[in-house]
Amino acid sequence: MVGAGAAGLYTALVAAGAGARVSLVSRSPLAQTASYWAQGGIAAALAAGDSAERHLEDTVAAGRGIARASAARVLCEESPGSVRDLQELGVRFDADRDGNLALGLEGGHSQRRVVHAGGAATGRRIARDLSALAATDERIEVLEPLAATSLSTHDGRCIGLTARPRRGDPVAVLARAVILATGGMAALWERSTNPRGAIGAGLTLAHGAGAGLADLEFMQFHPTALRLDGPRDGFLMTEALRGEGATLVNAVGERFVNELAPRDQVALAIEAELERSGERAVGLDLRGVDMGRFPNIAAALEAVAIDPRREVVPVAPAAHYTMGGVASDLDGRSSVPGLYAVGESACTGLHGANRLASNSLAECFVFGRRAGLAACDDPPPPAAMASGGETHTTIPTEQTRAALWRHAGLQRDATGLGRLLDDPFPLARLIAASCLAREESRGAHQRTDHPETDPALDGMHTLVGGGTAPRFELWK
Ligand SMILES: Cc1cc2nc3c(=O)[nH]c(=O)nc-3n(C[C@H](O)[C@H](O)[C@H](O)COP(=O)(O)OP(=O)(O)OC[C@H]3O[C@@H](n4cnc5c(N)ncnc54)[C@H](O)[C@@H]3O)c2cc1C
Repeated sequence: MVGAGAAGLYTALVAAGAGARVSLVSRSPLAQTASYWAQGGIAAALAAGDSAERHLEDTVAAGRGIARASAARVLCEESPGSVRDLQELGVRFDADRDGNLALGLEGGHSQRRVVHAGGAATGRRIARDLSALAATDERIEVLEPLAATSLSTHDGRCIGLTARPRRGDPVAVLARAVILATGGMAALWERSTNPRGAIGAGLTLAHGAGAGLADLEFMQFHPTALRLDGPRDGFLMTEALRGEGATLVNAVGERFVNELAPRDQVALAIEAELERSGERAVGLDLRGVDMGRFPNIAAALEAVAIDPRREVVPVAPAAHYTMGGVASDLDGRSSVPGLYAVGESACTGLHGANRLASNSLAECFVFGRRAGLAACDDPPPPAAMASGGETHTTIPTEQTRAALWRHAGLQRDATGLGRLLDDPFPLARLIAASCLAREESRGAHQRTDHPETDPALDGMHTLVGGGTAPRFELWK
């Protein structure tokens, strides 16, 4: 198991519960995972009158014609069970006055279905609880801090990995299966809501081992990240705030967008407003919101001396969520036998061109369970370790981050993307190639030189195999 965010921890617990011995390799402390930073919650059709079918309709609508229906259906049908399982593991979600689960409303959802904990501290609560369970589970060996630097294959199967500590000798792990749960790659962009380690290391490792990657052109830009100079720039102002009545206003105090439209629409409307006005931020007006429900956000604003009762909060879009990833089936299997991916590092195609809010934590648990169980049935590895090639998992430079923001930002064109093809960071080149291949605009991928959606690409996902140019595939 590589990665100890929500997906890695939960998958490890499921596999251990099924009798497997799990080595959990993790590079950075819990507080530096995207999971720990998650605010809004987990989408699950739990309300009276809600159904998996309605959740599915919203997920598919947000995905702009290419959400993979089979994967989206699995998510929507199994997410309520994941919430119940987390409760059984000891996670305490927020309740309403009657003691029922309190359900939040977020953009693109046709009704309240977001389960949360500690107001907007959902990820922190879940990650802490799962981490404590993993640390005391005798079937799980936590190897930390270690960075996986290459995968080992034998006769075309993935049979283990090599990981490196900050100092000292590399460690080889032999396993019947390797499950990547290394998170996304939003921190490759200059402005991001993600921890700095979200650089797509799992995608690079998987590609190095010959696994296919999918939909790399779809980076979701969150509409409302704090816009400030200094370290708090990019801090997320959760969508749940808009669900509770926060509005977006321009420089003259006028509203300009339906705040609860799906993310791609809201982010583009803000971008257009910024271009029109020449300002660097729009205002998030929180005066109608009970900030007592969002204590961590209130504290973050206080730390930067913003009083949301008296002034609007400056916000602008930032790279937030990786819809693409290691191409995986409904049990997390990649195209290389023995290699799996779950959570944000995986791409089952379920999010299509635009993830529906709070579907990603749900994805960590639903597909984590499936992959954790499936991997237990893989054959044991050979006794000796085949050597793995050293894969390029270095840190991107500030130049690469600036280039991705400039050339693969909310709006792209062939000229800028062509420049990105020469970037020294290999994943940046694969992203550029995927963006170039998709000569249309759809969801999070907006090409100024191809502004229309091409109906011929409905349902078509972009796949990048080992060393080949991106190709399109209908993914059912
Ligand atoms: C600010 C913020 C708020 C969010 N809010 C929500 C929300 O409300 N609801 C929702 O559904 N989603 C939300 N998301 C998205 C969601 O949090 C993520 O998609 C999800 O947590 C990803 O979990 P993960 O386990 O896949 O990855 P992560 O939590 O990012 O964990 C990745 C792990 O992999 C490890 N790792 C990486 N590379 C290596 C390597 N080479 N070797 C060893 N270990 C490695 C890291 O150290 C880490 O332990 C939010 C994201 C952010 C950033």
